[in-house]
Amino acid sequence: MTQPETTRFAPSPTGGLHLGHAYSAWLARAAARSSGGRFLLRIEDIDTGRCRAEYAARIIDELQWLGLDWDGPVRYQSQHMATYRSELAALTARGLTYPCFCTRSEIADEIARMQSAPQGPEGPLYPGTCRRLDERTRASRLAAGTPHAIRLDIAACLRTLATAPDGFLETGRGPGGESGLIPLQPGTLGDIVLGRRDVGVSYHLAVVIDDHDQGVTLVTRGEDLFAATHVQRLLQAVLGFSAPRYRHHPLIRDASGRRLAKRDQAQTLAALRASGVSPAEVLERLRLNQ
Ligand code: GLU
Repeated sequence: MTQPETTRFAPSPTGGLHLGHAYSAWLARAAARSSGGRFLLRIEDIDTGRCRAEYAARIIDELQWLGLDWDGPVRYQSQHMATYRSELAALTARGLTYPCFCTRSEIADEIARMQSAPQGPEGPLYPGTCRRLDERTRASRLAAGTPHAIRLDIAACLRTLATAPDGFLETGRGPGGESGLIPLQPGTLGDIVLGRRDVGVSYHLAVVIDDHDQGVTLVTRGEDLFAATHVQRLLQAVLGFSAPRYRHHPLIRDASGRRLAKRDQAQTLAALRASGVSPAEVLERLRLNQ
């Protein structure tokens, strides 16, 4: 017998859902239902500049229209900011983060000056400028109230762990067909931001804390987040959390092979619904995508 899985669908309310989101929700729910487990809905609304309560309400309405019901109350990340902040403060107290005063353009200039900037899956990584700041400069900038983000110091995390995690368990397939135990490459995304300059926390921090707090056993999500799993696994280890397993799924693409995005208005659930497509027809399209 398979163990009961706790899965989740975790959309950001920056718009309504499109077919790609529905696919993700449908897969996560199916994994929970077929194992006798739980399917959770989490609204990832820490980005107060881009997220809107009316989009969250619309997402809920669209999931209900599709019949993709979830278990328990909806979790809103915006209601847990104090938890994220206190975990971040604890990591900082352990010397596992550093303040980063760089603006986007300063980072771009620094990368342009470098002979060989470290590369990630989506381009150059943060070159670590503020990790190398001397203590006096750092302290005086902090004392002056200079705006800053908080970055995870990957090297310090690896030093603090008696043994780094081997990797993470992929039960689906990564973008390159990877499956099974994926060896940990903690620096894949570089020293990521844990505390954004504007809202004080970040996606990576919140998602790791939430998956732990909600008892998620199987993280089902698009393969675009496969690379992020490396650093999220490292964060779980330094926070003392056990690791969920992962099932990354292919993204739904348009006729020209591009992943669906907000520009693909024809593939939004709102447009499909308005044109008379039934929930059963939408679910059938998701099934065919398998
Ligand atoms: N909120 C993220 C998104 O909408 C998903 C996060 C996750 O599944 O880990 O892309």
